[in-house]
Amino acid sequence: MQRVKLPKLVDPVKNATIRSDYRGVILSSEMPRLLGSVADIAKEIDVEIKFAKDEQGLSYFQGHMACSTSLICERCNEVFDHPMDVSFCFSPVQSVKEEDKDELPDSYEPVEVNDQGEINLFQTLEDELILSLPIVALHAEKDCKQKRDKMSFGKIEPVDERPNPFAVLKELKRD
Ligand SMILES: [Zn+2]
Repeated sequence: MQRVKLPKLVDPVKNATIRSDYRGVILSSEMPRLLGSVADIAKEIDVEIKFAKDEQGLSYFQGHMACSTSLICERCNEVFDHPMDVSFCFSPVQSVKEEDKDELPDSYEPVEVNDQGEINLFQTLEDELILSLPIVALHAEKDCKQKRDKMSFGKIEPVDERPNPFAVLKELKRD
């Protein structure tokens, strides 16, 4: 099956009017902030999006993304697989001022359109993927090399002096 690359800029209202459906991929290289937040990531992120209007006439688009990534366990510093599967449901707004957001039903996340009525789909979905990452990346306890017992009896290093594993990776990638 041929997998199309999704467009970067989309007009969500126009797409909702013609009820567009997209099924395709976004290259992970288009999401530099996400790249900087994971140890490794597959080349392609699978994305499915449907644009539609609800009974109130509000335009929205919803779908999901899937992608395999790996993260660094902050307990033992080993890499582990972290498959991502993230659903989203957005509605375009003219501005993200509070009063505009308040008019939206809770099931919609507001996304601001530019002067041409377009949104940057890559950036919007990248934000969503980053938000879904765990705040502290950790192995499941049974898989972790650093057992909890050892942790509590071991020397506890001050947090600030430990090198950030992501910072090291970012250096490696910068070539
Ligand atoms: Zn671990």
